[in-house]
Amino acid sequence: MPAYDYRCQTCGQELELVHRMSETVTTSAHTDPLSGLACEGPLERLIASVGLAKSVGSSVSDGQLQRAGFTKYVRGAKGYEKAFGPDRTPNFVQRE
Ligand SMILES: [Zn+2]
Repeated sequence: MPAYDYRCQTCGQELELVHRMSETVTTSAHTDPLSGLACEGPLERLIASVGLAKSVGSSVSDGQLQRAGFTKYVRGAKGYEKAFGPDRTPNFVQRE
């Protein structure tokens, strides 16, 4: 399962949590790095491009790929047509 980086919105502590891509963790007990006290503040997820790159090809949504700058081609009768992607990429790729 992939690891995700989170930051506590109360104390700023960063945590790495492992869970399924479809899940989001909102709180997790940790230690406030300044006071040393237990904290259960709300967590915000930090988007890590490394995590996204690792999971390409499994279950990343088209929207995530598009935002990350990937180009997607869909196979047609004569070749591959671009579904989305940067303007510099060709709209059609001929099958060899
Ligand atoms: Zn905290």
